[in-house]
Amino acid sequence: MENPYILPEQTPCYVDGEFIYTDQYVSNTNPVNGQNLGQLCEANQALIEQAVTAARYAQNHTWGKMTSQQRCQLLHQVADKIAENEQAFIQAEMADTGKSLQQLTQIDIPRGTANFRIFADMVKSYAGESFITEQTNGDKALNYTIHKPLGVVAIISPWNLPLLLATWKIAPALACGNSVIVKPSEETSSTMYLLAQIMDEVGIPKGAFNLLLGRGEVVGDPLTRHPGIDAITFTGATKTGSQIMKNAAANVKPVSFELGGKNSAIVFADADLEKALNGVTRSSFTNCGQVCLCTEKVYVHRSIFDAFVEGLKQRAESLTIGYPTDPDVFMGPLVSKQHRDKVLSYFQLASQEGAQFITGGSIPVFNDDRDNGFFIQPTIITGLDDDARTNQEEIFGPICHLSVFDDEDEVIARVNNTRYGLAASIWTDNLTRAHRTAAQIDVGMVWVNTWFLRDLRTPFGGCKLSGIGREGGQHSLSFYSQTSNICIQIDN
Ligand code: NDP
Repeated sequence: MENPYILPEQTPCYVDGEFIYTDQYVSNTNPVNGQNLGQLCEANQALIEQAVTAARYAQNHTWGKMTSQQRCQLLHQVADKIAENEQAFIQAEMADTGKSLQQLTQIDIPRGTANFRIFADMVKSYAGESFITEQTNGDKALNYTIHKPLGVVAIISPWNLPLLLATWKIAPALACGNSVIVKPSEETSSTMYLLAQIMDEVGIPKGAFNLLLGRGEVVGDPLTRHPGIDAITFTGATKTGSQIMKNAAANVKPVSFELGGKNSAIVFADADLEKALNGVTRSSFTNCGQVCLCTEKVYVHRSIFDAFVEGLKQRAESLTIGYPTDPDVFMGPLVSKQHRDKVLSYFQLASQEGAQFITGGSIPVFNDDRDNGFFIQPTIITGLDDDARTNQEEIFGPICHLSVFDDEDEVIARVNNTRYGLAASIWTDNLTRAHRTAAQIDVGMVWVNTWFLRDLRTPFGGCKLSGIGREGGQHSLSFYSQTSNICIQIDN
């Protein structure tokens, strides 16, 4: 029998328990060398209809009717199978994204696996509320709540952490008893295909998990307009979120949005300089700057600014860029030519706005096949006002701007001067200052003396243009289920 974990030349969709080949294709490119990796079969309108019907059937007759215990056992089996086939997932994700082996083995694939385990365990202890109501005539009533699935959930996920971010939605949605229809980014669909293989193999009922491949405007847009969808969960760009919200409005469907960011780090004079430098290097350049939580603006106290600039420059210049298969490589390429063109256009904008480049600013030259890929240098700039477009718009690449600040109130106001509100990091050895400043920053997540340290039970998400709602732990369970109150009369 053919190994199901080897990616085919043409990657099919997965609907109603069948792998389906369509006659419309989207090509997939390896960002390391620009070579073609094969084609995705793009879903058409008929397949979208089929997925919605199958998902509804599973909801009403199979998956939605199972006990939590049965569903959670199956989700644990999904996690076990991902772990068993970790190498296949690493290879597929690396080919699609070019991200480093270091990151794939330490973050993306283990976290994708953990998402299934944690939500399968958490949903079993998802408690409701209960109240005894005393009535004026002496009667009582028992009020209690139950959690029911929403129904059919459309999941639209991005290319930067493909398995991790899609499973961050799929796992809780399924654990709560929903059926899902997943539309990953056309750039990075391979691990979702592998996941479909696993869903099929462990016996997730037909229609509970469906995978529609293809472009956002061709597949994601009609899917999010479809009246047969009960909720939409989306991670991606703010502009796309705004479009999806319009689509959802027509049928008044709930949305959960994790959108863009323009995140700051604040380095106070009392910070442990080594720790802060290592932390900001990681927060600015991890995954080639393509994590929504990455730092793009760094505010450094005047008294340590010069030392910080020098230290960050040294660290950025010593990062290893290259083949993601090399275990010593920290940074692979950006995901696509289109995205690299966007990041380069911001380098150009920064230059036009008068930025001084401390390091980077262009494309590295290798003199081998990597020159056909989409690599870019880690880049540090300084000298721009907070209001410059470079300091206000999300770039989503390995670039950060360094600014000087003098006092705490000033820096808080400057960090809050953005339309985004996702994450921030604070570097200080003063505990009181840490608590005081963290609470005043208008973001969904603040890290102190660390970055991207995640406990999957904690709330994740942003405010302002960075999103609507929170994911993680109870917050995910709350979005993916509806609460019904049951009131029982108790006669006196
Ligand atoms: P996009 O918004 O371009 O794409 C995200 C997903 O939406 C993709 O699957 C895409 O499909 C799909 N899509 C595109 N257009 C539509 C549409 N009209 N209707 C429905 N679906 C559509 O974002 P990127 O993939 O470029 O991801 C990067 C962005 O994601 C950044 O802004 C980043 O900040 C944000 N992000 C936010 C996170 C958070 O937690 N807040 C985490 C990670 C990323 P396709 O690509 O195939 O066209």
